Amino acid sequence: MPAHPSNPSRPRTRHDFEIAVICALPLEADAVAAVFERQWDSRTYGKATGDTNTYSTGAIGHHNVVLVHLPNMGKVAAATAAAFLRTSYERIKLALLVGICGGVPFGNSSNGEILLGDVVISDGIIQYDLGRRFPHAFVRRNHVRDNLPRPGPLARTFLAMLQAQEARAWLQEQTLKNANALRQKPSYTAIQPNPADDRLFKAKYRHKHHEPSDCLTCGSGATDVCEAALKLSCEELGCDERESVFRARATTTSITPTIHFGLVASGDSVMKSGEDRDLVASQEDVIAFEMEGAGVWDTFVDCLIIKSVCDYADSHKSKKWQTHAATTAAAATKAILEKWNTGKCL
Ligand SMILES: [Zn+2]
Ligand SMILES: [Zn+2]
Repeated sequence: MPAHPSNPSRPRTRHDFEIAVICALPLEADAVAAVFERQWDSRTYGKATGDTNTYSTGAIGHHNVVLVHLPNMGKVAAATAAAFLRTSYERIKLALLVGICGGVPFGNSSNGEILLGDVVISDGIIQYDLGRRFPHAFVRRNHVRDNLPRPGPLARTFLAMLQAQEARAWLQEQTLKNANALRQKPSYTAIQPNPADDRLFKAKYRHKHHEPSDCLTCGSGATDVCEAALKLSCEELGCDERESVFRARATTTSITPTIHFGLVASGDSVMKSGEDRDLVASQEDVIAFEMEGAGVWDTFVDCLIIKSVCDYADSHKSKKWQTHAATTAAAATKAILEKWNTGKCL
């Protein structure tokens, strides 16, 4: 357990900040802003010439933190923002990409089931491009896991410490505690989902108009799904409960996030096919899908992705778990920062 740290003093200039948190969606940034214990007026720190980023500054635990709000999702926005961040905040040592992601429901060989609301921490990333469909879906930098773009030396040492059994248990406990505290805040709203809404469908079972007579596109028998169906919920489309998959952990009525460490797939488009997800996951050993990691990684090698699972990277997308997942990711980030001391565990 860390000694109880004192609050940091207000930084004199922007060069006194060593931690950056990057969020792609407003709901992710709102959750992170809510774990700030102190706020600094970011206008007083200015920016480098030409920097178009929007920043919030404050303190989380014993660290001063700059929060970067991306204008939109995706690798390009993330890469641009990371490059500007580097020019304005030159002394950032650790960049955290925080928010929500699509999870691989059965994890990989070293992770058990992954449920909605669980937290994924990257120990490396792979890039994929679904613009060209699988089996040519990947732009793989390397084929050997050890040669993949791994976190830099500081983040790697830190990760190893976090993954030790005792630290992991502490992290899990602290994440739950922080998330509960966040929900008590009158200024912050997080919708608590119903555990019964954590539904995983078979990978082949698609989210579409199920009656062939309802829709020409969905009923054609091909893999196409109409745009209208993508905007409707599983309930509205009548996705069949009997096509869902049983998972042991989902039978409990409480939502307690588990922390998973593993490779994260970072792509140019949203993964929304259960079959593609499973193929990529089995070949690459990834446990989650998201879209900004590859962009940030190019500028900050000491980068960790801390994202909580809001869907299963398949076609049955729902917004029901988004604020819960964003809250959990922010809560985990606060816990992780308690342990960070320029790469050493406190
Ligand atoms: Zn349709
Ligand atoms: Zn559905």
